[in-house]
Amino acid sequence: MDPIVLFEGYSKTENNKYRANCSCVLIKGPPNIIVDTMTAWDGDRILKALQEESLTCDDINYVICTHGHSDHIGCNYLFKKATHIVGHSISHRDHYIEHDFRNGKEYVITNKIKVIPTPGHTLQDVTVMVSSQRGVTAITGDLFERFQDLTDEDIWKEAGSDSEELQRINRFKVLRMADFVIPGHGPMFRVPKTFKVPG
Ligand SMILES: [Zn+2]
Repeated sequence: MDPIVLFEGYSKTENNKYRANCSCVLIKGPPNIIVDTMTAWDGDRILKALQEESLTCDDINYVICTHGHSDHIGCNYLFKKATHIVGHSISHRDHYIEHDFRNGKEYVITNKIKVIPTPGHTLQDVTVMVSSQRGVTAITGDLFERFQDLTDEDIWKEAGSDSEELQRINRFKVLRMADFVIPGHGPMFRVPKTFKVPG
C-alpha cells in the first residue's frame, strides 16, 4: 500500500515566530509503521488520525524517526509495542540492537520497505524507502526540507546541516532511487526527470 501522509510538515515564520512541525507518515501493513512522530504536543491528533485508519497505537510495529530532533520524536512514547528506530539507534524497551548504519548498511524490514542511512542534516539521519503501486517513495525527514529546496540550496542549508557535503551527496542518491519524496517540512512531490540522469 502507498504510504499515507497523516500530517503534512511545514516550517514558516509568522509574526516573527518560527513555527515548524514534521511530516508524519503511516505505512499500513502488516507491519504497520509510523515515520516521524511530530512534537510532544501532538499525541491526540496522531491517535485520532490513526483511528481514522482503523488503527490504535498498539497496532504499530515500528516507529521510525528520520533523526532525533524534537519535532520528529515527540510522540514515540505512544507506541509501546513497537520497535523504535531513531536515526541510527534501534531499540525495544531497554534492549538495543546493533546495526551498522554508519558504514552504509541498510536495515531491511520487508522486501518492499527498508531504512537507509542518509547523513547530512544530522550525521545519523535515515530515510525510509517504500516500494508500492505508485513506485518508490522516499520518506526523508529533513534531508529535504521541501520541494523548493531542489532549486534553492539555501532552504535546506538554513534548516541546519551537520554536513552539507554528505547531505548533498545523499540528496542526489535519494533522488536517483525514488519516484516520490515526502520531505520533512512540506508536501510530497514527484522527483523531476532532470534528477534521473545517471551520475
Ligand atoms: Zn525537522
